[in-house]
Amino acid sequence: SVRFTSISKSFGEIKVLQDVSFDVAAGEKLALIGPSGSGKTTILRLLMTLETPTSGTIEVNGELLGLRRVGGKLVPDRPAHIREVRRQIGMVFQQFNLFPHMTVMANIIEAPVQVLGMERTEAEAQAMQLLQAVGLAEKASSFPRQLSGGQQQRVAIARALALRPRIMLFDEITSALDPELIGEVLNVVRQLARDTGMTMLIVTHEMNFARDVADRVMFMADGRIVETGSPEQIFTDPQNERTRQFLRAVL
Ligand code: ATP
Repeated sequence: SVRFTSISKSFGEIKVLQDVSFDVAAGEKLALIGPSGSGKTTILRLLMTLETPTSGTIEVNGELLGLRRVGGKLVPDRPAHIREVRRQIGMVFQQFNLFPHMTVMANIIEAPVQVLGMERTEAEAQAMQLLQAVGLAEKASSFPRQLSGGQQQRVAIARALALRPRIMLFDEITSALDPELIGEVLNVVRQLARDTGMTMLIVTHEMNFARDVADRVMFMADGRIVETGSPEQIFTDPQNERTRQFLRAVL
């Protein structure tokens, strides 16, 4: 589960998030939609501890992220504990970020072996299962440059899953893909959403995808949450004029 409580984030004078509070229950799939610059990516980056909030708190599976309580006070957490909390979260980016000089197999087993200390043979067996799940079992010994963008992105998903996260973050994972390759990547995520109990936060510009993968949709604009509801509600009966405007422009 994930909980944001009164999170604000500024870069200098620019307020990117303003008093953002929301919950994602364990196993829930939340889609984040909204115009460019509304702060969606920043929410995911805060969860990955790639950014720190200006104010407010974030909890991951009931544990504070980056902070701990001492007496009544919040103080910075120990780096080792931050890493432990953070390890429950996997992320897939718009750019696939695969290691170009490593085979697909080596890309996937790198973190389980290095970070979790998994045996190489076990990591390889798990990697083959994950490659099967994303439909790329025959590409284990290929290098990233030999794969299409859609295939590379599916490898990136398998690589994130190899650390067995309880929470997965997807940041506009189809934005860098040619239109004909988008479907295969979205289908992998759809299947994961259906078949696993993972909590998912999905930033996407693909409204049809948001609609059928998410349990709940959160619309953001100008660093604030404008409204949250079921896909049905947000896409067919949005309450806020700002949401209606956005959906008219993108649908
Ligand atoms: P998009 O859909 O275009 O990715 P977004 O909703 O994900 O947009 P964010 O990427 O979270 O939006 O960015 C929100 C705002 O914060 C933008 O105006 C962006 O320029 C600004 N921003 C993000 N990171 C930084 C940074 N490191 N320094 C300064 N400004 C930043």
